[in-house]
Amino acid sequence: MAATAATVGGDGNPAGLDTAALRRTEDGYTGIPGDAAWAAEIRRLAERRDAVLLAHNYQLPEIQDVADHTGDSLALSRIAAESTASTIVFCGVHFMAETAKILSPDKTVLIPDERAGCSLADSITAEDLRAWKADFVRAGEPEPVVVSYVNTTAEVKAETDVCCTSSNAVEVVRSIPEDRPVLFCPDQFLGAHVKRETGRENLHVWAGECHVHAGINGAELAERAGADPDAELFIHPECGCATSALYLAGDGTVDSDRVKILSTGGMLDAAHRTGASSVLVATEVGMLHQLRSAAPEVDFRAVNDRASCKYMKMITPAALLRCLTDNADEVRVAPETARRARSAVERMISIGQPGGGE
Ligand code: SF4
Repeated sequence: MAATAATVGGDGNPAGLDTAALRRTEDGYTGIPGDAAWAAEIRRLAERRDAVLLAHNYQLPEIQDVADHTGDSLALSRIAAESTASTIVFCGVHFMAETAKILSPDKTVLIPDERAGCSLADSITAEDLRAWKADFVRAGEPEPVVVSYVNTTAEVKAETDVCCTSSNAVEVVRSIPEDRPVLFCPDQFLGAHVKRETGRENLHVWAGECHVHAGINGAELAERAGADPDAELFIHPECGCATSALYLAGDGTVDSDRVKILSTGGMLDAAHRTGASSVLVATEVGMLHQLRSAAPEVDFRAVNDRASCKYMKMITPAALLRCLTDNADEVRVAPETARRARSAVERMISIGQPGGGE
């Protein structure tokens, strides 16, 4: 793997970190351990910059622990919009930092490594979406309503009527008049879940997926559930196994009370309430850190412990140090794109319980 030295500026190095070891590689910035000295320096730099540090639930444990707030993408964007800090450091992937910028256009928004993308957000472009809409109009169908999951780029949000999170997707679709076709993008598993829940025939689903969640499959889930008959199942609706879990519940293989289809925010709420001594979790493995902290007496285990998002893990201790010392990487959204995207995001916030996106 090619690595180049990366320097950090700033106002000295009171914590005595070995900043000369910082390297830029294809997989992210490396060379700085996430230890107590690093954490103290991060907190000092954040205060000096008047920055609030936000960390998504899928971040590395040391990044979650040093942040001011940890949560799902939408909850963090709302915190960003309400914060009085002039700078937002978004420890997550690029579309999340963009959403924070859309909701807080006057604040400086930084992401520790702008290469932290998302395979799901990349599965549809604004051009794809415009062509999909145009096909409907050409076929003489009523004007479709576009519903996009929050895991999309700012350009796709600008072409969208209403955004949704995994916790309010069903309510968003139910709020649309029955006679209007709905184009749902980009996640096919969440789309299938919404179609099943609403029974809506005129809901059309884009065939996108997240490579991490799609890799958590039904066969693995069935095997794990069979080996641990008393465990509850917490399943994110983006997972390839979400449909299998409902099938297993429907045919009696797994007691339907054990299966909970939940956003990451919903998982945390459920962790506080569960009476089970063990829970199988089907989502990105970073979520286990939050769940174990919330309910230490419960044995939380991953359905697939290889379900780790390489993009989320690009936000390393070295990347965060560089971000705060060099004021990089700054996230910008063109004002007209932000204006159009904002109305789709604000409609999402006004429907249901939107606090539990990915
Ligand atoms: S886990 Fe999947 S949906 Fe989430 S950021 Fe990574 S690639 Fe995107």
